[in-house]
Amino acid sequence: MDPVVLIDVDRCVGCYMCQRACALAQCIEINEVTRFAEVVRPEDCTGCMACERACPYNCIVVLSDETQVPVRAKVTLSRVRRYSSKRLVTGDPSWTVKRGAEEMMREGVGSLIIMNGTKIITETDVLEAWIAGKQDKPLIAFSKDAVTIEGKATVEEALRIMLERGIGHLPVLERGKLAGMISLRDLLRASSVTSPILGESIIPINPREKIEKYAIQVPVVGRVTNRELYYLLKERGLKATVVKDGELIGLISIRDLTKALGTGRSLDDMIEPRWVNPVSSQEQISRAIVIMMEHNIRHLPVIHGEEIRMLSIKEIAKHAVWIKAM
Ligand code: SF4
Ligand code: SF4
Repeated sequence: MDPVVLIDVDRCVGCYMCQRACALAQCIEINEVTRFAEVVRPEDCTGCMACERACPYNCIVVLSDETQVPVRAKVTLSRVRRYSSKRLVTGDPSWTVKRGAEEMMREGVGSLIIMNGTKIITETDVLEAWIAGKQDKPLIAFSKDAVTIEGKATVEEALRIMLERGIGHLPVLERGKLAGMISLRDLLRASSVTSPILGESIIPINPREKIEKYAIQVPVVGRVTNRELYYLLKERGLKATVVKDGELIGLISIRDLTKALGTGRSLDDMIEPRWVNPVSSQEQISRAIVIMMEHNIRHLPVIHGEEIRMLSIKEIAKHAVWIKAM
């Protein structure tokens, strides 16, 4: 049975003891208007009975099967809402595409939410408009219906949607209202969170596996223009690729193209690469994840024998789902 938490509000004094006791699942809160305790996220209740034990006035009775607590805790800890960012970057639908790119660049994001979360415009959309010479047209003309996810969905569900739809972000809804954003990077961060109850990570990635298992072959280019990079990435279905100039190794990505548009560069200007220290394909994937999290980057160049390959958050995430599905 799903746990049921009964609260006798006639005796509740709003002392917060139950809310504190439910710090793990965060399903009880004191209502700011009534000052009584209420269950706000019943789907996250593990049935652990901590609130019942904590209430000094015996207002709470929990009906649950205690043997199910560890299993429920695993689901509760893997909810999207725990890992989503509350920071929402929104745009005005009447802004020009170029203005939208400026905002993405200024805020360091790959998409803007418009029309109260019903529409979204991504870097790919603004770049398509740019290549078509429509950078001065309004954003709304290039936006798409937003694919959203409820905060109570699990990290695994979010990951599947992102990989199936080929998107890197999902607006998160709570009770039908826009409440946050979750990205592939957030999901990867979730993979490094270990459940205090079960001692398992939520997305199973073996941290000791070698990077070579995840690194993909990409074109290694010299200096290219914005236009050349756009067509190269589009043709290969990539978000970034590796650049090599003498001894220097770096990355050029869709984010750099958005920055070029946002700073008023032309399609025929040369793109400025970001020089990055490559990692060896023989190192452990955990080291690459740490570097990506610390430096807030989605791709890394990888030295694999004589070749230079690329590691991306998307490839790591894809593999995580594959393990889970076995
Ligand atoms: S039973 Fe446990 S999880 Fe459920 S409301 Fe009480 S403290 Fe929270
Ligand atoms: S611990 Fe008991 S009295 Fe205190 S807020 Fe919770 S239900 Fe009310």
